[in-house]
Amino acid sequence: MPYVVRLSPARFEHLLAGVVLWVVCLWWHQRRGEKTLLHPVAVLLAMPGLYLGTALSDWDIWLLGIGGHRNPLFHSALPYFVLAWVWRTVGIEAMIQRLGGVRLNLAVHVGFSVGLASHMLLDIWQYGDVRWIPGGTLDRLWLGGHAALLGGVACFPRVLLGGSSLPPRVT
Ligand SMILES: [Zn+2]
Repeated sequence: MPYVVRLSPARFEHLLAGVVLWVVCLWWHQRRGEKTLLHPVAVLLAMPGLYLGTALSDWDIWLLGIGGHRNPLFHSALPYFVLAWVWRTVGIEAMIQRLGGVRLNLAVHVGFSVGLASHMLLDIWQYGDVRWIPGGTLDRLWLGGHAALLGGVACFPRVLLGGSSLPPRVT
């Protein structure tokens, strides 16, 4: 029997939230005439980044133990900006663009930022206590603010990635 990947209920909920937000994101881009991400190849290529975005925040359990879960460094936009910086600095971005074109790079960025944003939003919905930050209201503001920042990346990736290197938008 082939190897079967089992998802815990929590992992499945985060993945589902990510897919829902991804559909909303594609709808937004479609309305704006941004066809780059709507190509079936781009939708497919965004999936690994989307999955990683929904899962990465909970890696604080693995690194810090359950007592350190919902660490604000993991439950924020920081993982996106750090990885995007590494992605660019070590030359992965240039390599990916050479291999798969700008569409691939854009799909990875948007997929990952949407996945991470969906994780923050679901944690607000389920009221997850964020470590180091006192009180539920500040926790929600923290998660909501970072989800909004990631939403900005997902909605306006050209601003971040430099519009001149991307295919023209159909208006
Ligand atoms: Zn979480």
